[in-house]
Amino acid sequence: MDINTDNQNKRHCAFCLKEIQGNEIKRCGKCQARAYCSRECQVDDWSGKGQNHKLWCDERVCEEDIDWDIRIAEGKGLGLFAKRDIPRYTKILVDKGYHSRKEVPQPLLESLMPHSGSLAAKWDFNNMYSSEGGENLGVRVSRLNHDCNNNATFKYIPDLKVFIIVSIVDIAKDQEITIQYQSFNDVSKDAKYRNVRLMILNEKWGIKCQADCVCRDKAVRLRIEKAHQVDKVIPSLLKFAENDIKAKLKVIDDNIEVIQELGGCPISLIRPYYDGFQIAILNQKTVPLSTKYIDKLIEYSEIINSKHSEEHKTFLKYKENPRNHRNYCLKNI
Ligand SMILES: [Zn+2]
Ligand SMILES: [Zn+2]
Ligand SMILES: [Zn+2]
Repeated sequence: MDINTDNQNKRHCAFCLKEIQGNEIKRCGKCQARAYCSRECQVDDWSGKGQNHKLWCDERVCEEDIDWDIRIAEGKGLGLFAKRDIPRYTKILVDKGYHSRKEVPQPLLESLMPHSGSLAAKWDFNNMYSSEGGENLGVRVSRLNHDCNNNATFKYIPDLKVFIIVSIVDIAKDQEITIQYQSFNDVSKDAKYRNVRLMILNEKWGIKCQADCVCRDKAVRLRIEKAHQVDKVIPSLLKFAENDIKAKLKVIDDNIEVIQELGGCPISLIRPYYDGFQIAILNQKTVPLSTKYIDKLIEYSEIINSKHSEEHKTFLKYKENPRNHRNYCLKNI
């Protein structure tokens, strides 16, 4: 038995990211999947200093070196690659989100792009600003490359301070795992957003698409525009009569259909399902229609969220009893 060439035994510590092998590898006693270089790293990762693994241990999140690894990505530096076939809606990575440059352990920040940049430049280049989470950087998330035709998506969960990366299509072994740094095919945002986001992609990350890129696809753009028009009708919640509500739900159903045609990213589906729920519960007579929306909402939230997140718990509260939502029979006619 040749132990020296046993590549299966090479891992990265899930907290400090150090490469370890053989009997240096310590595993989480519960899931037996997450690897650590030391007891200290395991303790830090179990708590909020790292992934907060105590919340994720039983959720079967993929692990580095088992399900994916970091390799050279032709022309792009490094990238994340599938080490096995990864089915759609798999939680690929849950990564701590650092809120400021000073929080990131220096060697980890130093390892990031741009190669010869200052730490401030590295922070600016890799942080994924979001309106819910502010400035945020995930060290492993930073290794994911952008693709307009992405096969995975990410969400920042503010109360748990983590990024979650989920596959949105089946990803084959050895395929690169990619995300959209700025989600421009987002049906819930109007055309202005799409253009601003494409501009940020170009200016911040220098992403210039080829003429045949999916982001320039006219048919896709037209479908998104159609969905925007549909979406605009929704906020006018002035009438709560049974038939008005039913008409609005029809608009939402059309919108959901467009999103699904476009690849159905769980994040963009959560919003219309939530809209459907909020609208259906406005009138006692249409309350029963809310069930299908809240059920789907929870289904997608389980895919892209943590069951421990505040957002998910709120959705469960609404399912348990729609009266928990402020819209419930707001104005019965
Ligand atoms: Zn470590
Ligand atoms: Zn575990
Ligand atoms: Zn593109």
